[in-house]
Amino acid sequence: MSRHVVTLIPGDGIGLETSAAMQRVVAASGADIEWELAKAGAACAEECGTPLPFATIEAVKRNKVAIKGPCTTPVGTGFRSVNVALRKTLDLYVCLRPVFSIEGAGGRYNDVDLVIVRENSEDLYAGVEFEEGSQAASDLIAFCKEQDAGAIRSDSGISIKPISITATRNIVRYAFDYAVKHGRKKVTAVHKANIMKYSDGLFLREAREVAKEYEGRVAFDDKIVDAFCMNMVIDPSQFDVVVFPNLYGDIASDLAAGLVGGLGIAPGANIGEEYAVFEAVHGSAPDIAGQDKANPTAEILSAAMMLDHLGELEAARRIREAVRVVYAEGQSLTADIRWATKSDAPAVGCTEFTDALIEAMGKLA
Ligand code: ATP
Repeated sequence: MSRHVVTLIPGDGIGLETSAAMQRVVAASGADIEWELAKAGAACAEECGTPLPFATIEAVKRNKVAIKGPCTTPVGTGFRSVNVALRKTLDLYVCLRPVFSIEGAGGRYNDVDLVIVRENSEDLYAGVEFEEGSQAASDLIAFCKEQDAGAIRSDSGISIKPISITATRNIVRYAFDYAVKHGRKKVTAVHKANIMKYSDGLFLREAREVAKEYEGRVAFDDKIVDAFCMNMVIDPSQFDVVVFPNLYGDIASDLAAGLVGGLGIAPGANIGEEYAVFEAVHGSAPDIAGQDKANPTAEILSAAMMLDHLGELEAARRIREAVRVVYAEGQSLTADIRWATKSDAPAVGCTEFTDALIEAMGKLA
């Protein structure tokens, strides 16, 4: 087995607890990982004067693979979001979020097995915004009027929604290639092309073009985002690989997580041509931080995705298998899962859950 050096960014909030738990589980999985610690987030801003130091970006570039806990962006640091800045700087254009049922996790369904592929670089998330009352906002309002593009109230703040052919083709191609590689049968593109003709309309048009290259190998269909949400709630098993522009993908990720048991178990990855940064879907959850209450499963399953990426398939399999065992047994589950399962059984903390997981892994064949 080969040794891998991975950058670990614990982040802040519950990230400190979930990252420590993840490290213990990875060590027990048999994978040989050397962690190179790097800082980001709110505590780092206090210590280093920035929530995303240059050294952290360099550490990810050096090792090419990183795993990070959630990072809170302190107000007034010049960053809209540390997470968005990291994704942009490293050109991590894919946000990959597998969503699957785990028996005992409190999901509304037991047959969910889909993959969210979210575009990570543009759309309303790109941060192109004009503040209400600013000169730029009023110039833009005047420009829209001049162009006969529609009346915007003079007291409006404005966010721009850019969707490009380049980014759309890249993300849709990634979704299809992922489907081919993982034996998935269908890609669904989600949009609101009937209303936003030039942005979502472009997304749909380009998705259809890319789909033609995969005809006969992977099926393709599309769903308007509101219908997609309703269909997800009625029967999520109908979806396989689902590709989204940035904002819909963000919202759909939480919706999908909710259907299988919540944010505590939802893993993810941000992937580009050169680098990959693995991270749970959830944020820093300041309400429970530092209390040993967080569910580390999402970060642990993100680590399993990381191990797949590194070619450590057996270690990844053991982690996933142990997670399934602990949830199916139902003895040692965290408070979020007790709540999702409407169970009165006592909850365990992050540490005790991790102990149970490691013990279960030790008993696997
Ligand atoms: P962000 O904007 O960064 O996504 P957020 O404030 O919208 O963050 P989260 O921090 O992701 O939301 O979580 C919302 C709530 O869900 C938390 O306050 C917490 O109660 C619960 N939660 C999230 N992650 C976990 C977890 N791993 N374990 C237990 N509870 C969690």
